Amino acid sequence: MGARRALPRGLSRVVWRQAAGVVARLLDADGSRRGGASVKTLTLAPGVAAKKVTHAVVCETLKHVPLLKLVLDDAGVSLVDDVVPNRRRRRDADDDRDETKDEDEDAEDDSETDLEETDEPPAAPTGVARSLAYVLSYEALFGAGLEPDGEAKPSTNHQSADGSAERNEKRDVAAVIAATRLVVDAIGALQKAVKKRLKSGNHKNAEQFMLAQPGGQALAAVPTHSRYARVNTLKTTLDAVELFLARGGLKPTRDEHVPDLLAFPPNTDLHDHPLVKDGRLILQGKSSCFPALALLVRKEEGKEKGAHALDACAAPGNKTTHLASLVGADGKVFAFDADARRLKRLTANCLLAGAMAGGKHKGEHVNAGKSIVAALRGDFLQVDPFDPKYARVKCVLLDPSCSGSGTAATRGDYLIAAARGEAVDVGAVAEFGGAHTEGGEQKKSKKSKKTTEETANQDVPPHVADARARVASLAAFQTEALRHALSFPSAERVSYSTCSVYPAENERVVAAVLPDAMKLGYTLEKALPSWPRRGLVGHGLTDRESNAVLRADQFLDDCEGFFVAVFVRKTPLGAKKAIARADKLAAAALEEIEAKRLAKRMKQNGSEGVRPVYGNGGGKKRKKGAGGALFR
Ligand code: SAM
Repeated sequence: MGARRALPRGLSRVVWRQAAGVVARLLDADGSRRGGASVKTLTLAPGVAAKKVTHAVVCETLKHVPLLKLVLDDAGVSLVDDVVPNRRRRRDADDDRDETKDEDEDAEDDSETDLEETDEPPAAPTGVARSLAYVLSYEALFGAGLEPDGEAKPSTNHQSADGSAERNEKRDVAAVIAATRLVVDAIGALQKAVKKRLKSGNHKNAEQFMLAQPGGQALAAVPTHSRYARVNTLKTTLDAVELFLARGGLKPTRDEHVPDLLAFPPNTDLHDHPLVKDGRLILQGKSSCFPALALLVRKEEGKEKGAHALDACAAPGNKTTHLASLVGADGKVFAFDADARRLKRLTANCLLAGAMAGGKHKGEHVNAGKSIVAALRGDFLQVDPFDPKYARVKCVLLDPSCSGSGTAATRGDYLIAAARGEAVDVGAVAEFGGAHTEGGEQKKSKKSKKTTEETANQDVPPHVADARARVASLAAFQTEALRHALSFPSAERVSYSTCSVYPAENERVVAAVLPDAMKLGYTLEKALPSWPRRGLVGHGLTDRESNAVLRADQFLDDCEGFFVAVFVRKTPLGAKKAIARADKLAAAALEEIEAKRLAKRMKQNGSEGVRPVYGNGGGKKRKKGAGGALFR
């Protein structure tokens, strides 16, 4: 605290304004309504200037909010409530399925998806906005310091045809200047108030005060993980990347569990590194590399090359590009996502990674080769597993929307909870064991007419009840999606993963689906056997089954919290039939094209009266949902 150097006045104003905006948004909504937005997603979003400093100011301000609230009040600084921009309404019907799980490298996507402002600008506040006062008083009391502010020239960064951007900026700068003056005027009273508050609580310093607040203990447990980057073997090799990095003075270590993954010291900023910018290095968390690896890499080395895989909930495509690099140029990855904007990001990421061909990225032609990935917009639950297109899909990766609780510590969620005064128990995994039943539905007890969840939620704070309801709804979707993933007729391997730590989204989903999976010939394979941490016992799985699934712990392992289960079967029921049928349909389609071409040519040559011969279509088109009962 206080170690940060003061920035030039103009930049400071920008940072404070941005930081106040982020703090206002994060304090406005509790975890269950915040969607994917986190400290990282908002401070690393496109358009944020001086991201690192803004991030630091937001984190430190949030940490100090409980104390700042009190001392601003004690010092008589009058505040007005923040005006938080409306959230864009999500296009999906059930917008509870927020995608909160991506690693910080996906931050930009999440912030775009979940907390985008509507076109309407917020009304100007009539006094000092609460969050701006928090940011400025943090700076004055514990940060880089605050001096009286004078007149400001508007920057030339924000220009618009109708002048609205300039007007907004002028208004914002004026608000920062006015608020700075107010806080500077009150500095004596604020310092006195801090001393008094610390003394009355017997706290040696602000740090001690914060740790004693509800949710404060969780702050002490927040880990710092290594920064990971995966070498994109579609474009380069591990050796070449190491050489390049060494020339720039960077010497990462090779990860012991994930081939081609490099670990850098925590907080290494690689966002602007040339290898990242040109797609040779992909910023991806370690545990996020587990699903594709567990799904595809087996003892028989190279067997995955040329495979057809399907990524069911794919955007922004971290695992898609990983799958693409594993199946290689002769393979195929069908990548689905229901969200059009996120799919656009996936497409850009796949182009950059060389996993998709024929496109441009930021105006430049990036890959002239063959497309491995087909990006497909759609609800995975509506994808027909019997569509001949997927007849050769042997591997399905399902990484559905989840609570993202495995990334809560590094995303800064505990900071937000502490600032909101919400108690968090970082070990409270069992709390979200979930009243999970077959198909994710909640059963009503006849006697009480209450769902098990309603009963469990008696006497818990509203934010915990909300979070539980959200987890139950996510678990219902995850269960349905897993059943669907297992129903692809040629599938031999299906991975299910989340970055949640809650059994309701992990072991219990697997346990709910396992009996039907077994009827389809699947068993649970030990996912990445060399990884030591395995699944939890006592959540519907036997000891052997718990040992087959894997977990990563955000506090104990040097990576984010994660869960992976891999279902395998030797002889996919009906696979041969499905492939034969697909071949027949493809042959019929070719025949039809050929016949049309012939007919056209004959017409051009004036040979009237000769009818083209059409193929018979290779049989009747299969009605959706009419497959063998075992696959449904
Ligand atoms: N696997 C991705 C990666 O590694 O980059 C992250 C996937 S994110 C956790 C979950 C994704 O599922 C979101 O992009 C969301 O839009 C998508 N999604 C949610 N419901 C879906 C559905 N019914 N069908 C297809 N995609 C869906």
